[in-house]
Amino acid sequence: MSVRAKGCLLGVIGVALLGGIAAAGAAERAGARTGADEHPVATEARLGGDESRTRFVVDLSRTVDLAAFTLADPYRVIIDVPQLVFRLPAKSGESGRGLVKAFRFGLVMQGGSRIVLDATGPVRVDKAFVLDSVDGQPARLVVDLVAIDRDSFLRNLAIENQARRAAAPSKAERDRTVKNTDARPLLVIDPGHGGLDSGTVAPSGETEKTIVLDFALKLRDKLEKTGKYRVAMTRTDDHFVPLAERVRLARTNQAALLISIHADALARRDTEGRGATVYTLSETASDAEAARLAEAENRADLIAGVDLTDEPDEVADILIDLAQRETKAFSMHFARALVGEFKTSARLHKHPLKSAGFRVLKAPDVPSVLVELGYVTNPQDLKLLTSESWRGRAADSIVQAVQTFFTTRLAGAGAAGGSN
Ligand SMILES: [Zn+2]
Repeated sequence: MSVRAKGCLLGVIGVALLGGIAAAGAAERAGARTGADEHPVATEARLGGDESRTRFVVDLSRTVDLAAFTLADPYRVIIDVPQLVFRLPAKSGESGRGLVKAFRFGLVMQGGSRIVLDATGPVRVDKAFVLDSVDGQPARLVVDLVAIDRDSFLRNLAIENQARRAAAPSKAERDRTVKNTDARPLLVIDPGHGGLDSGTVAPSGETEKTIVLDFALKLRDKLEKTGKYRVAMTRTDDHFVPLAERVRLARTNQAALLISIHADALARRDTEGRGATVYTLSETASDAEAARLAEAENRADLIAGVDLTDEPDEVADILIDLAQRETKAFSMHFARALVGEFKTSARLHKHPLKSAGFRVLKAPDVPSVLVELGYVTNPQDLKLLTSESWRGRAADSIVQAVQTFFTTRLAGAGAAGGSN
């Protein structure tokens, strides 16, 4: 219930992501059977007050513990709670009141939900508590915010961060890997977004987070079926994973390849806005559209309320790393193989091979590509993206590109090239 308790909770998120995700598929799939009824239900969320003092209230089926804290640039208030079932009225959080512009909610880890309030300016969490249910009234989560100046806000933030660092797990704990005696190469499949970050949304309501998860699960099954690879997923259900955790999963488990799966959107109808595109990492974007997309994709952490103060990661620094040279060449090698395969199975974008500064592609030692399967704003693309047969064909193409990648990579290194 205390505001300070958040440090522990964030620490747990880091460990849970690595420990949980890297484990075998059985544990991942077990998450799916989690019955909704065992979790408290949120039925209503409302805002009261004005620009000097604003109260945020959520009605709950029973009391829960909470941790509330603030983040800067942009100003946000994060409320972490145990996993909730959100049965809020439609459009909840789309508009605000007082010190809150809007809010989002969703699963941030297995067992943990999060609510992110976008604040209009610097605020302080004055009170954060949960009231027991009385006289047939639901239990209530209450967070009171007061307006403060930026200097005070930053001072509070520094104190909060100190407490959080003290409680954070050590690097050794965080980088714990699962013991592995299987010599087959490990592929990390990364369905973008998840939980309170929906990604792009089609006019008809389909969300990128769901489209790419369905696709990624199919791809995983097909890759496993070859018997040649181990596959780890960054997520197998609807929860959010910070971008740095996705990269860390690939690095600590010495993945041979990371494939991040996404679906793009355009604000206005654009004749070029269709077909699949394959992206690699670069400091300077290959064109304006690639720059726009990288910016949009990199916002995921911000949307989900991830604190980035401990994550200094200039793409430029990584690119001058010598170790990166080989990785970069391998990434391009796979990207080209993928475009080649997609030619026969998928609609390709007019310029299907591009690059930009995607945070999820920044592992210096793991070849990584990001695939935009198509545009959810293009009706024909959306039809393909949600079609079982197209998904099957496109996933087959990726499997084929993976096979080509490993065969030719080995050949290039002078090893047993033709044996595959
Ligand atoms: Zn995306």
